[in-house]
Amino acid sequence: MFKTGYFTHADCRRHEMGPGHPECPERLDAIEDRLLASGLGDFLDRREAPVGSVKEIELAHDKLHVAAMRGMAQELAEDINAGGRGYAQIDPDTAMNVHTFPAALRAAGAVMAATDAVMAGELQNAFCAVRPPGHHACRDKAMGFCFFNNVAVGAMYAVHRYGLERVAVVDFDVHHGNGTEDILAGDPRVLMVSFFQHPFYPYSGDTAPAPNMLNVPVPAYTRGPAIRELVEHQWLPRLEAFKPQLVFISAGFDAHREDELGQMGLTEADYAWITARIRDVAQRHAQGRIVSSLEGGYNLSALGRSVEAHLRVLADL
Ligand SMILES: [Zn+2]
Repeated sequence: MFKTGYFTHADCRRHEMGPGHPECPERLDAIEDRLLASGLGDFLDRREAPVGSVKEIELAHDKLHVAAMRGMAQELAEDINAGGRGYAQIDPDTAMNVHTFPAALRAAGAVMAATDAVMAGELQNAFCAVRPPGHHACRDKAMGFCFFNNVAVGAMYAVHRYGLERVAVVDFDVHHGNGTEDILAGDPRVLMVSFFQHPFYPYSGDTAPAPNMLNVPVPAYTRGPAIRELVEHQWLPRLEAFKPQLVFISAGFDAHREDELGQMGLTEADYAWITARIRDVAQRHAQGRIVSSLEGGYNLSALGRSVEAHLRVLADL
């Protein structure tokens, strides 16, 4: 039996933000290439990401934000019918095309479906190869390449659907997960642990807004040994004490030393090590249940290799 699920959907490839944008459809191709080349793909339970229900996305987002996304998608469709280019700029780095809203519904839907499969015991754990990413999306707004906060939606869904009392969110993206913090800060059912380059986009997170947030800002050029030390001495004691029943990972790979957006020095071996520590916590307290979802990672080669390393640990291969 396959123990690790791999959730994705073709719609996630159709969302794009214009020529030369680093958060590009080819990121998913780079991951697929590595899964094929390594043979790892044969050991994963590949599943189509369903469309996430708006009602459940609204567990983490304002109704108005969801409605604005839907309205913008309609305007873009009309713009294309009228011969327009069909892009809407949300912030200087973030744009919608006509496929963004469906892709965002699939991305959130992937995390919820992965949660269902893991909670049902069909899968031990799962990785969602989805875009747009989520961890900058706040309760009431899209920003930083993100529209719906896939992991925060998943965490709220797990709490409401399964009555879980302790859900952990682990975020190892190079950027601070300000959107996840915005949605989950102060909720005692959730513990979020993260590290991130600081000062750096989105210039938040240096002080934790609530006791359920463990933020560890690190300077540019921090490398693997220092990260492993903070994971061991700061993350793990908090996670152990919290005893999560389910662990979500905001799996961004832009702290890789080859990534052009971040200035940190992690390698595939570091991602494997961090994943193994998270897996140990999940095995001790959460029956091994982990739902991981793609966030950043913009050097295509490094992204493919890092996701492979992450998945090898999740799949125990
Ligand atoms: Zn990032």
